[in-house]
Amino acid sequence: MVIESTSIEVIETIEELQQRLNRNERKNATVGFVPTMGFLHEGHLSLVKHAKEQNDIVVMSIFVNPAQFGPGEDFESYPRDRERDLRLASSAGVDIVFIPSVEEMYPSDGGIRILPGVQANMLCGASRPGHFDGVLKVVLKLFNIVDPDRSYFGLKDAQQLAIIETFVRDFNLRTAIVRVPIVREEDGLAKSSRNVNLTAAERSEAPAIYRALQIGSDLFASGFDPETIEQRVGESIVSNSSGTIDYVKMLSYPDLGPVTQHSSEVILACAVKFSTTRLIDNIIMSTKDGTYVQNDDEQ
Ligand code: AMP
Repeated sequence: MVIESTSIEVIETIEELQQRLNRNERKNATVGFVPTMGFLHEGHLSLVKHAKEQNDIVVMSIFVNPAQFGPGEDFESYPRDRERDLRLASSAGVDIVFIPSVEEMYPSDGGIRILPGVQANMLCGASRPGHFDGVLKVVLKLFNIVDPDRSYFGLKDAQQLAIIETFVRDFNLRTAIVRVPIVREEDGLAKSSRNVNLTAAERSEAPAIYRALQIGSDLFASGFDPETIEQRVGESIVSNSSGTIDYVKMLSYPDLGPVTQHSSEVILACAVKFSTTRLIDNIIMSTKDGTYVQNDDEQ
C-alpha cells in the first residue's frame, strides 16, 4: 500500500517486506532500520534523521510487542495511533513502514527462548522480569526480517541498547548498532510515548526527574560516591513530585557493572512510577581529562 500524496510504503506482512528488501534486489543500497512501538515523537524522528543521513533506504517498524510486557503492565493502555504515525513517518522521510499484527509476528510459539545475560539483572531487568527476553525475541525477528545494514536505538532506553549491542556482538548479527542521544521536552522531560498517559499534575511534576539526575551528575563530577548520589537523586525526585522510586542506580556503562575507577563511562539511571505510568530516564557521563563530563543530549 502507498499512502496518497506521499511515497511511503506501508507493509504488513513479513513475506512482502522480505521480498521488498531482498539483498540480491537491493544490490548496493544500504538499509537503515528504526524499530519502534509507535505513537511517534521527536525521539523516534531523531533516529530516522540519523538513519537517513547514513543509508539509502530507511525502514521503520511499528509494533507494540506483547512479549516485552509483563502481566499487569500497560500493554492494553499503551498509546496507539496508526494514521498519525504514518503521517509523521512519511514527513520525516521514512521509505518503508512495517506494521505487522501480533498474529503475523507470533503465529506460533515453539517454546525457544532467548535469554539476556548479566546486563539484564538490574535496573529495568530487575523490575520487569522477562522484559528483555521479549525485547531480544522481537529484535532478532525484526533483524532477520529487515536484514538492515545499520539499526538505530535511543539512549533513552540505555539498558536495552547495551543488551542489544552485546547480543549483536556475541552472536555475530549482521547489523551495526547506532546509538542516538536522548531527545527531551523543553522542560527537560525525556520524550516518551507514555508521557500522554500522565495526568496534568504528573506531567507538570515529571521534569523533576531530569533535574534530579542533573544534580546527581554534578555530585559525581564533584567526587561524591555512587551510593550517596543515588540517595540524593531519589530524595530530590520524591520531594519534588508525587512519583515513587522504582530504582535510582549508578553503574558502569555499557557493561552495567559496579562503578570503579576504571569505568570510562557511567550511567545514572532511574525509573519513577506515577499513578498509571512508569517513566525512565538516565544521564551518561564519560571521563575527559580524568574528570567526568555529562554526555550531551540531542539538541
Ligand atoms: P519505543 O517506541 O518507545 O519502543 O522506542 C523506539 C526507539 O526510540 C528506541 O530505540 C528508543 O530508545 C527510542 N527513543 C524513545 N524515546 C526517545 C527519546 N526521547 N530520545 C531518543 N530516542 C528515543
